[in-house]
Amino acid sequence: MSQDPIPKSGIAPFETTLAQQGLTLTRGKTSVLQINVGLKCDLACRHCHLEAGPARSEAMTRATMAEVIAFASRGSFQVADITGGAPELVPDLPFLLAGLAPAVPTVMLRTNLTALSTAERLPLLELCRRLRIVIVASFPALTPAQIEAQRGSGVWDTSVAMLQKLNAMGFGRPGSGLELHLVANPGGAFLPQNQAAAEREYHRTLARKLDIEFNRLFVFANMPLGRFKRWLATSGNLDSYMDNLLRAFNPCTIESLMCRSLVSVAWDGTLYDCDFNQAANLPLGGRRIHVSDPAAQPAAESPIATGEHCYACSAGSGFT
Ligand code: SF4
Repeated sequence: MSQDPIPKSGIAPFETTLAQQGLTLTRGKTSVLQINVGLKCDLACRHCHLEAGPARSEAMTRATMAEVIAFASRGSFQVADITGGAPELVPDLPFLLAGLAPAVPTVMLRTNLTALSTAERLPLLELCRRLRIVIVASFPALTPAQIEAQRGSGVWDTSVAMLQKLNAMGFGRPGSGLELHLVANPGGAFLPQNQAAAEREYHRTLARKLDIEFNRLFVFANMPLGRFKRWLATSGNLDSYMDNLLRAFNPCTIESLMCRSLVSVAWDGTLYDCDFNQAANLPLGGRRIHVSDPAAQPAAESPIATGEHCYACSAGSGFT
């Protein structure tokens, strides 16, 4: 995509802040395989760190998916987490799901709900039910106005109808063994509310007003990357947002940052320490490695590539 470069903030480098606290960030045991299957999306949300949208065409091929499945099979991953863009729009997604399900104990599929809602996705939904795929759905707020300000007109109704349909299939219903988790993020240049309090409010509001049930809510900070960073810069909020993240830096979060236990594969097979580093073009530990490389499994204590966006993971009680 040819867009104007986004200006840098004036914040201290993340490694400098770690060093001032006597901290280093290296890998523990890698147990989560995150797979970004492509950047095409039916929406173009304001907070998207990958600038995914309808005009993007990058998509993982079946050949790369086969290499990802082989990597998953020879690793000791506990979780495979499939994301995008909208993964549902990648034609060979069913091939990937079917290959990963026997290789990894838990397979998660992220969805924006709207891309899952069309009639042509019914076979995919049935496959997810049969393979007991864990559905992780973006539902960033509890009012139509807040959701549509971030995601576009009409998204509230489609998302609510899709959640109700997932419940009707058993996802998120107690005793079904089919999990449905929700993901929320703030609507602007501020930090998210406490996750436990937000989860209680989501359970209460969605059950009472819309008869929707779900398992867990995950609350994430908006990443100062991609479309959200562009918006921060053009609205004059970039420096104040980064200052807020730095002021909220919490050294206790470093031990449990997701990059310590996760490896992320991009649509073209390149490995990264996390999905955010894909957006920042920072490959795994600073080295460009393909998923088909026999040495691709990162070792404990190996380095993690960082950037100023890492402040969003380490603010407050941590958001990954
Ligand atoms: S953004 Fe930085 S701190 Fe957060 S998971 Fe990625 S590498 Fe780790």
